[in-house]
Amino acid sequence: MIPIMRPVMDEREADAVRRVILSGWTTQGPEVAAFEKEFAAFVGAPYACAVSSCTTALHLALLALDVREGDEVITVSHTFIATANAIRYCGATPVFIDIEEGGFNIDPELIESAITSKTRAILCVHQIGMPCNLEKIIAVAAEHGLPVIEDAACGIGSEINWKGNWERIGAPHGDIACFSFHPRKIMNTGDGGMLTTANPEWDAKFRLLRQHGMSVPDTVRHGAAKVIFESYPIVGYNYRMTDIQAAIGREQLKRVPEVVARRRKIADRYTALLAGNAGIEAPTEPSYARSNWQSYCVRLPNNVDQKAVMQAMLDAGIATRRGIMCAHREAPYGGKSDATLARSESAQDECIILPLYAQMTSDEQDTVVETLKQSCLVNA
Ligand SMILES: *Cc1c(COP(=O)(O)O)cnc(C)c1O
Repeated sequence: MIPIMRPVMDEREADAVRRVILSGWTTQGPEVAAFEKEFAAFVGAPYACAVSSCTTALHLALLALDVREGDEVITVSHTFIATANAIRYCGATPVFIDIEEGGFNIDPELIESAITSKTRAILCVHQIGMPCNLEKIIAVAAEHGLPVIEDAACGIGSEINWKGNWERIGAPHGDIACFSFHPRKIMNTGDGGMLTTANPEWDAKFRLLRQHGMSVPDTVRHGAAKVIFESYPIVGYNYRMTDIQAAIGREQLKRVPEVVARRRKIADRYTALLAGNAGIEAPTEPSYARSNWQSYCVRLPNNVDQKAVMQAMLDAGIATRRGIMCAHREAPYGGKSDATLARSESAQDECIILPLYAQMTSDEQDTVVETLKQSCLVNA
């Protein structure tokens, strides 16, 4: 079986977990603090705050920007549903705009006409690891005085050309970036998330909100020689990452440069193997982006049945996934087709994601491409 993804983990992560378990402190504590520092340094951000997932990170980012009932947040439908759900958690409405031609990211040209007096923020997504056009997005946002949140769930280790320099996603470009450590992403802590920002007040707010709104973290009380009484000035959440997860994350983070380099090689090889193959369209990287290729998503020839191709590949022992979902087609967001989101819908219906993992061999890759070609021919 060729899976869609394989985590890169070994004795190093197992030893890290062992160290935490034997330390006697397993919830948010010194490992989380160390992981935050290392993650901030890695992406080039002044502040990083660890949480339980990217979904909770997005929720806290929106809360820190004071997004609330009646507000609108401009985003894409063509994303994992958590992007839209986080907006709903605040009582606000996601305003969906379409993706760009020839890619899977938000079309910056459509932002301006979606802005109303109720718009509170722009939530853009670095979909499947490909940086979106932040320069254009941030320019429109700045004209209207709107903050930009980056859903960078899949974007760890991806780079963007920013004013002539290659910088990692998570360095201060937008106002807040949110990352995921789910096993399907680039690094894996079982579950987990991170917020990065250059704004110390927002970072303080994330820290308060992630731990019940508690004024003094339990690590501080634990280490204090004098009795401290904490207070709860606001309603918070339990969105903590555990020290067990953070210890795994610290090991995983060290692997990211190597993992991303491998993924980029494999993606290049896919693109070369697919070149000139009647109708199968390989993804492309815009000049301002270096993707970590969290997913390699191809468009099938338009006479081909997507599900039948996926089934034929599964029958041959190869896992695939359909193109990224559209939130507006799911019940909580209307549950029906929308002509203004035509490119999003066709990307969901006509694309499939191929297996890609750092350990993938050339033989496995050849098998995937051969089987894909055959499956397209048979199911045309
Ligand atoms: C995976 C994903 C999320 C959710 O991440 P979790 O850590 O599982 O909460 C949010 N947005 C996008 C774009 C994702 O791909």
